[in-house]
Amino acid sequence: MAVHPSSPPSVPASERIARLRQAYLAQLPERLAQAQALCARLAAAPADRSVAVDLHRLLHSLKGTGRSFGFAELGTCAAQGEDLLQPWVDEPAQALPEGWLASLQHSLQRLQAVADGLAALQGGAVASGVPGFALPQAQRQGARSGGRVVYVCDDEPFVLEQLAAQLACFGYEAECFTEPGALHDAVLARRPDAVIMDIHFPQGHSAGIEVLLALSEETGAPVPAIFLSSRSDFAARLGAVRAGGQAYFVKPVRANELVAALDELTRQQVHEPYRVLIVDDEPEIAHYHAILLQEAGMVTCEVHDPRQALEVLAAFRPDIVLMDMYMPHCNGREVARIIRQEPHHVGLPIVYLTSETDREKLFSAMRIGAEGFLTKPVVHNELIAAVVIRAERMRTLRALMARDSLTGLFNHTMTTQMLENAIARARRDGGRLSFAMIDIDGFKAVNDTYGHPAGDQVLLALARVLQQRLRSTDTVGRYGGEEFAVILQDEDLAQAAHLIDTLRQDFARVSFHCADQEFHCSFSAGVATFPRHQSFEHLREAADRALYEAKRRGRNCVVADGP
Ligand code: GH3
Ligand code: MG
Ligand code: MG
Repeated sequence: MAVHPSSPPSVPASERIARLRQAYLAQLPERLAQAQALCARLAAAPADRSVAVDLHRLLHSLKGTGRSFGFAELGTCAAQGEDLLQPWVDEPAQALPEGWLASLQHSLQRLQAVADGLAALQGGAVASGVPGFALPQAQRQGARSGGRVVYVCDDEPFVLEQLAAQLACFGYEAECFTEPGALHDAVLARRPDAVIMDIHFPQGHSAGIEVLLALSEETGAPVPAIFLSSRSDFAARLGAVRAGGQAYFVKPVRANELVAALDELTRQQVHEPYRVLIVDDEPEIAHYHAILLQEAGMVTCEVHDPRQALEVLAAFRPDIVLMDMYMPHCNGREVARIIRQEPHHVGLPIVYLTSETDREKLFSAMRIGAEGFLTKPVVHNELIAAVVIRAERMRTLRALMARDSLTGLFNHTMTTQMLENAIARARRDGGRLSFAMIDIDGFKAVNDTYGHPAGDQVLLALARVLQQRLRSTDTVGRYGGEEFAVILQDEDLAQAAHLIDTLRQDFARVSFHCADQEFHCSFSAGVATFPRHQSFEHLREAADRALYEAKRRGRNCVVADGP
């Protein structure tokens, strides 16, 4: 099945909703005619429960949709009819009270009169009565930019050179300044992602701090800054904090720690829009909720036939499901139960969106594993808030399950899955991809010599080098203990091997510190490609063989599989 998620289109939401209301009004006469016909059948054969059930559902939906679109009176009349039918739908065996049918017919007549009044208005002042339209600020997705620029300012050229070289290993473009005045002018000319600055200069202790304060005033926004200092006293730290310093390092600085702070400081928040699946048999009401969610920057997908929910769920991979309660073929509780039976959907939040007000029924529906319910007509901000909170939690849960806790890279299971997906995509599009297996050299000796925590620092540093230097379309995973895997989209063998070799050189230059000792590490890598190797298994084995060959050749090198 083709799933077409919809994201915010160019037509304003208020206009799209106005159109939906028009469409709702336009089909109202037909729906009321249906209701009248069902009522006539009920009058002829009062024992036919299926007719009562159909009429009940029709009125229920007229009520919910009417209220959502701001036609309160219409909603009230439909609700009266629904209430009259309710006891009979709940308990078909019971005797119907005197005058029951007359009451039902009467409420349908009132409904008709209200609808006629609305039809007379149509084309005129229809825009009244849409529940208030103050939507939260859209959270749109930002694009990941390329290399990050860091200005480093220190009056000791040797320190500068060392720092710049280390930062470059992690993909930062470092520009060096020996004097705060020059840094000041450079920031005005081209704003960096961050500034690293020594706070001690011959001109005076706080020259660096003053320059940063001045820059914040002149540019109207603080420059993200990390301070270096040979002092660790309170006064020095306080000065740095007041100047907006985000981190403070006492010299000598360890590049690895500095990079961790820099990563944190310059992390571009790439916010993937939340994905919301809306299951509702009524297209208009599904559209309506979709528009509200899209306005808040989310991607939506609608299912109007609940029997398709599972299939769409697998293809669309939502962060949350909004579920109508009453639908033909099967109701929302049944769909929720079916979803919960799939082990990998166990954590998926399901929220009922319903015009049901019977709390008993709502709570019994929630016991089936739904997270909560929102009553139609929903208040926009409540809808957005309810979705955001739950979708965010789902994201966190998914991230925990997909990532390695030490490095934050994809874990073994996830990396494997992503490689399989990448192969499937490349096969479908006739594309290529490369797969590299990377293994740290002599890592056991690092642990044995410097201790396990130092070993962990090495793993983290390699993770950063790989992450920083690769494109956002590439995938980096921690495949095992000190083994990493990289999937490079659209690269041929020579390009990929060259790229990995650049990373190898960068990593070999990173200096590590343990007590007073400095040491370096290296890695070996094997690279293989699709379509030369067609299956996941063959690709992995080929990369593994190449890695083994790299180790055999003496380590600290990259071997490309192939003739
Ligand atoms: P080679 O060059 O042949 O790859 O030698 P090696 O010492 O790197 O390889 P070996 O497989 O013998 O040792 C890998 C070591 O990695 C053993 C294990 O204790 C260590 N290791 C695995 N996971 C972690 C971890 O999370 N942290 C630390 N510090 N060490 C780890
Ligand atoms: Mg190793
Ligand atoms: Mg190993």
